[in-house]
Amino acid sequence: MSGYSEKNQIFIPPAELEKQVKFTSLVHTMLASRYPDSPKAFVHTYGCQGNVSDSEKIKGQLKKMGYSFVDSPEDADLVLFNTCAVREHAEDRVFGNVGALKPIKEKKKDMLIVLCGCMMQQKHIADRIKRSYPYVNLVFGTFAIHRLPEMLYTVLSRGKRVFEIEENAGTIAEGLPTERDRGAKAWLPIMYGCNNFCSYCIVPYVRGRERSRLPEDILAEARELVASGAKDITLLGQNVNSYGKNPDCGVNFASLIRQINDIEGDFVIRFMTSHPKDCTYELLDAMAECKKVARHLHLPVQSGNNRVLAEMNRKYTREQYLDLIAYAKKRMPDLSLTSDIIVGFPGETYEEFLDTVSLIKEVGYTSLFTFIYSKREGTKAASMPDPVSYKEKSKWFKELCDAQEEIAARRTASMVGKTYRVLVEPNDREGWLTGRTSGNISIDFEGDAALIGQFAEIEVTEAKTWILYGKKK
Ligand code: SF4
Repeated sequence: MSGYSEKNQIFIPPAELEKQVKFTSLVHTMLASRYPDSPKAFVHTYGCQGNVSDSEKIKGQLKKMGYSFVDSPEDADLVLFNTCAVREHAEDRVFGNVGALKPIKEKKKDMLIVLCGCMMQQKHIADRIKRSYPYVNLVFGTFAIHRLPEMLYTVLSRGKRVFEIEENAGTIAEGLPTERDRGAKAWLPIMYGCNNFCSYCIVPYVRGRERSRLPEDILAEARELVASGAKDITLLGQNVNSYGKNPDCGVNFASLIRQINDIEGDFVIRFMTSHPKDCTYELLDAMAECKKVARHLHLPVQSGNNRVLAEMNRKYTREQYLDLIAYAKKRMPDLSLTSDIIVGFPGETYEEFLDTVSLIKEVGYTSLFTFIYSKREGTKAASMPDPVSYKEKSKWFKELCDAQEEIAARRTASMVGKTYRVLVEPNDREGWLTGRTSGNISIDFEGDAALIGQFAEIEVTEAKTWILYGKKK
């Protein structure tokens, strides 16, 4: 499986992974003697799909150690929070939720509390947990996931608190057990880390340097997923467009999606996140020519103003971005485009913000992920002058959302009367289902739950701004 060699030490050596298998079995034996019914774990994930995918590996390892999963911390013998560092708000929520575990732990002394993920990879956060949350048993960063069995063994056998926040450029652990619970949908990580150092972003500091899995490992996993019933596979990475740059890879992202497209079976290929500076015509051609690749491109622009883009260290201009969009639309007229936008980057003026509004109108996005700038300690932007008040930024934010709402309403209205092939998913409303189009747009319709996980043809009958209604053909 792994491309480990003495020369290529991105990959965790097989001997280390075997050692973890032994710790898995030791923990399993220990837990079996303490919990006659299997021990219960509650795993909660904050943040992006990368974290969700990591949690699948964490749950895979916990399951091998004997844990089954529950939906609330009160019912759990082990509570694990996989945290996110991208926005201050998410960090505040984690501290609040860890605080809320204290009374539960007071009643249930043996309960283990484990914190991991990007937030914990920051030393000042791990130090705060050590100081102020003495009931937390185990804290580990993003580079230690494969060592969970050994760390848990130390906690259980010696009753010691463990803090494992190693500084690391990043590695790849192949072959970890994975517990997937997304039905016919699956995440497939193809690379980890980021080299871009966008000036507002903490990710390169907490997830290490960019490194790609070998194509043969990715293809083998994709084949397994398809064989086990996956119908919607999302390739994951912080910047998937620069896939394949480490030695021994020999394949770029465009070729990788062509190879996955060649795997037999009826399934959709999605990917995220793309970076405009690495998005090429070659990739857009591959998307257009591969039947299984979804007609959806999430291409975060962040700002429509060139000065702000330069300050963000994004390494493309508005004009280059719009050129890519024009080519993508030419090759795929039915393409659905989405993006991320930061409102109120330090030093941004209202006039510069208006360039973002004009850009979203020009592109015509299906939807946007919009955020008011959140200061991240340790990034370059954190030390930039930021004179505009939060209240003012909130007004700009609303203006952007209103503009996008009009664009989205026009787009959804244009879908009425047309029929789309969707992958059917559950819906909270009794007797209803949701279908996701190739463009990643949801359509709600009435139908039998037996359709969940299947493809179906749905005609759109009614459009509201953010929701489409339809009927099965
Ligand atoms: S590309 Fe930029 S925004 Fe995305 S993870 Fe890397 S540094 Fe952060």
